Amino acid sequence: MAAATAAWSAAASVGVAASSVARPNSTSARVSPGTPASAVKTACLAWTAVIPSMSTSSRMGGQSSSFSAMTTVAFLGLGAIGTPMARHLAGADLGLRVWNRTADKAAAFTAAHRATHAVTHAVTHAVTPADAARGADVVITCLPVSADVEALLDGPTGLLAGLAGGAVLVDCTSGDPATSRRLAARLAAQGVAFLDAPVSGGVAGAEQAALTVMVGGDAAVLERVRPVLEVFGKKIVHCGGVGAGDAVKAVNNALLALHLWSTAEGLAALTSAGVRPEVALDVINTSSGRSNASMNLFPERVLTRAFPRTFRLALLDKDVGIAAGVAREQKVAAPMLQLTAELFRAAHQVLGEEADHVEVVKWVEQLTGTVIR
Ligand code: NDP
Repeated sequence: MAAATAAWSAAASVGVAASSVARPNSTSARVSPGTPASAVKTACLAWTAVIPSMSTSSRMGGQSSSFSAMTTVAFLGLGAIGTPMARHLAGADLGLRVWNRTADKAAAFTAAHRATHAVTHAVTHAVTPADAARGADVVITCLPVSADVEALLDGPTGLLAGLAGGAVLVDCTSGDPATSRRLAARLAAQGVAFLDAPVSGGVAGAEQAALTVMVGGDAAVLERVRPVLEVFGKKIVHCGGVGAGDAVKAVNNALLALHLWSTAEGLAALTSAGVRPEVALDVINTSSGRSNASMNLFPERVLTRAFPRTFRLALLDKDVGIAAGVAREQKVAAPMLQLTAELFRAAHQVLGEEADHVEVVKWVEQLTGTVIR
């Protein structure tokens, strides 16, 4: 508790200091699990039509066959959100190759898929990132941070050793714009296109193939890969050039963090004043102070004391830090973003790598001496 309080004080003082600086100066068919094979095929044909450079004959050495069966997607990063995304791809009429740092997870993914599906197309796991990327039309990465993706590029087993010109790397990591721009430049030198394409909607959204995908990069490249993104995404938005998807995602998550923290403070004060938190939420959720935190996270995870682990606090800390960085880079005064970043960095330090993001509320409870229940 003493450490937590010290961290709070440190965070708050940094936040106040921060506040005084920085003055202003498709058209293709949708594919989802359960979609009839014919619709999937239509989507893949739409894909063929818009990728002359990746036609069946150019990518497959002149053999003629249905593009749908021959489109190969590689997916790297079978984490909390990557796994359900990859599962939808495995259920679509595409060739899928998965890779994961802990290889057992990739092997288990393939085995589980084979056990439950009548296989009409290939789902395999690759031993290295290069093997995953070799011959793939689209390579999707979903790792904790952009630096992890960058670290996979080099060496004889790295992505660059396997990627062929004409392929597209779609990075679904909630990444940082500067690293994404560097990645795009390095890949372009090899004739590979890059899109930053972070997702929102959480694990539940991924399981329902209902993610929002926010994309930075060339709009024409997005149209080429849209049928693949539509396998797990419900809303796909082109946000701007490379890095724009990352920036939008980071600001969205900074708002999530802000709502979580401020709702916890408000409910702690009300609970302490004798108002039951479910009564307060009943009012707030039909009033102007409502948010996803008040409408879903507090009723389902805090009042129940369930705190399921779906999205690590460490990742939310990273996202808020990126948002604060974007504001600093643009010389936009954003004291609230800077303070939120400091608070979440301190919370991450105190609660550790494996804590869920909603568990930040437990720390606010400690700091305020009030349990919200
Ligand atoms: P997890 O921590 O659950 O999984 C991370 C994945 O990345 C694992 O497959 C892990 O492999 C792999 N990995 C970690 N470090 C490295 C590395 N250095 N090199 C190669 N692979 C590595 O993360 P999530 O799946 O939750 O998140 C992934 C991305 O999606 C993050 O950017 C996150 O911010 C974002 N996101 C997550 C959401 C969620 O609800 N979980 C919602 C929206 C976006 P291993 O199995 O070996 O540990």
